[in-house]
Amino acid sequence: MTDQELAIKIRGLKKTYDGEGATEPKEALKGIDLSIPKGSIFGLLGPNGAGKSTIINIIAGIVDKTNGNVEVWGFDINEDTRNAKANIGIVPQEINFDVYFTPFEILELYAGYYGIPKAERRSEEILEAMRLEEQRDAYTRFLSGGMKRRLLVGKAMVHSPPILVLDEPTAGVDVELRQHIWQYVRDLNEKGVTIVLTTHYLEEAEELCDEIAIINHGELVICDKTPNLLKQLDEKMVVIHPVSAIDEVPIEIREIGAKLNEEGAIVIHFSPSVITVGQILDKVAKTSIEIADLRTEESDLEDIFLQLTKSEKE
Ligand code: ADP
Ligand code: MG
Repeated sequence: MTDQELAIKIRGLKKTYDGEGATEPKEALKGIDLSIPKGSIFGLLGPNGAGKSTIINIIAGIVDKTNGNVEVWGFDINEDTRNAKANIGIVPQEINFDVYFTPFEILELYAGYYGIPKAERRSEEILEAMRLEEQRDAYTRFLSGGMKRRLLVGKAMVHSPPILVLDEPTAGVDVELRQHIWQYVRDLNEKGVTIVLTTHYLEEAEELCDEIAIINHGELVICDKTPNLLKQLDEKMVVIHPVSAIDEVPIEIREIGAKLNEEGAIVIHFSPSVITVGQILDKVAKTSIEIADLRTEESDLEDIFLQLTKSEKE
């Protein structure tokens, strides 16, 4: 992928938070490389404390990096800060607007910060998209949590950036609102906006993202297109205990990958989309093996996630 095709390019990104007083310095990012394609919905997935918000906050210019390079829409965030900021909208994890203004005033205020002339502002349109028309002139502090969150998204869009970054957009929101946010994200993406979102919900990443990067302990564990990651899900295992011990796997089932484990059981990893358990058992029936016990195991994204993010220390 060429640089022109990247919305965000991150190379060797490191961050160590200085320890204050008695606290130890914290190495939150240990050298992250990410290539986020233009037009994608890209998910940064990882458990709490993995370093997701640190990456987002560095991209947003809220946190200073310790080392490495970050380009937003081709602009280096340190050398060309203004252009980098103009091309990105950030929806932070925490609500960060003044609740004593009305939603309309907040959108106008931020459009002002970005130097958007009055005639080019989109406050009404954004309120409508966020389903906040009725709350246009209400005091924001009286809005529900869901409405505040929608306003947070709207606020990130006042300058029509080609990239929208959402940090845990659905953390702690109810199922209905989650669906609504997902739909809005999809709509924006269809209009050409590149979406980057962080989440610790596998389901959310699976549902929305074209590509997923899994982060753990400040390191990139895996990054791939969602279907490729899910292909790893298309893997099951069958374990067959024979009635009498065997010392060699019969040729009929060796060709489907059967192996003996240390307990003398036959283990076969297979993709259900390629071969069924029934077909495997048909093959086993053609051998002299008598089955004493049989069990199948399925791996899902949850397993892969746990496996990949398992800490050596834990
Ligand atoms: P995530 O968003 O994936 O939950 P964060 O990026 O918020 O993770 O945090 C990564 C690590 O850095 C955590 O161990 C967290 O405690 C630490 N951290 C985050 N912000 C600060 C800070 N301002 N000062 C010191 N440590 C921090
Ligand atoms: Mg976070």
